[in-house]
Amino acid sequence: MENCIFCKIIAGEIPSPRLYEDDQMIVIRDIEPRAKLHYLCMPKVHFATLKEMDDARAEIVKHIFAVIPTLEKELGLEEGYRVVINQGTNGGQTVPHLHIHLLGGEVLGGF
Ligand code: 5GP
Ligand code: ZN
Repeated sequence: MENCIFCKIIAGEIPSPRLYEDDQMIVIRDIEPRAKLHYLCMPKVHFATLKEMDDARAEIVKHIFAVIPTLEKELGLEEGYRVVINQGTNGGQTVPHLHIHLLGGEVLGGF
C-alpha cells in the first residue's frame, strides 16, 4: 500500500529493527513508547481496521494472537501486559494499517 508507513517498514524502505518476523507478521518497538515497553505487532498484508476482516485476514490475526504469548519472555512481558487495538478516529488510530499494541514492563494504570 503506497504511503503507508507500516507497509514501508515491512518492505524495509524505512529501517526498523524487527524483534520477531515470520511470513505473516512483524513485531517492532513503538517509536513513541507509552509504557516502559511498547511493541507493535502487525500483519504484513495491508488492511486498516477490523471492519475489513475476511477469512484470510482473520487467520492472520489469529496467527498473531497465537504468536504473542510465545514472545512474552523474550519481550520482557512475563509479568503481564496490555493489548490494545485502536480503531478509527474515535479510537485514536493514527496509522491505518492494523496493528496490535503490547504495553508492559511496568504496572499500567488508568484503564
Ligand atoms: P495508533 O495510534 O494508530 O494506534 O498507533 C500507531 C503507533 O505507531 C503510534 O503509537 C506511533 O508512535 C507508532 N509509530 C508511528 N510511526 C512509527 C514509525 O515510523 N516507527 C515505529 N516503530 N512506530 C511508529
Ligand atoms: Zn500498510
